[in-house]
Amino acid sequence: MSCKDCKDCECNEVKKFIESMDNTIPYTDETFSDKIIRTFPHDTPEHLLKWHWDEEDRDVYAVNKTDWKFQFDDQLPQQINSKLHIPKGVYHRIIKGTGDLRLLIYK
Ligand SMILES: [Zn+2]
Repeated sequence: MSCKDCKDCECNEVKKFIESMDNTIPYTDETFSDKIIRTFPHDTPEHLLKWHWDEEDRDVYAVNKTDWKFQFDDQLPQQINSKLHIPKGVYHRIIKGTGDLRLLIYK
């Protein structure tokens, strides 16, 4: 039996595959007319913070000072303490820090 068929062990290959199929949304949104307040809880599983791109441009601000980080493809992680402009179609991800992350998102 190869590692891929293994259902019982917690070997990385199986675990990573199961995590990659997990599309649980890691945040909750409060929607207002022109903006969203998006909260990522402090216990967000890191595998849910996937690389992705969005279908529209957006501006993102952190509501509170935070050590969560933001990363564009091919760039180093950056702080989220000033305005971030995320152009549509550009790969990015959030990197987990401590406490809840609350973002203000303008589309
Ligand atoms: Zn995004």
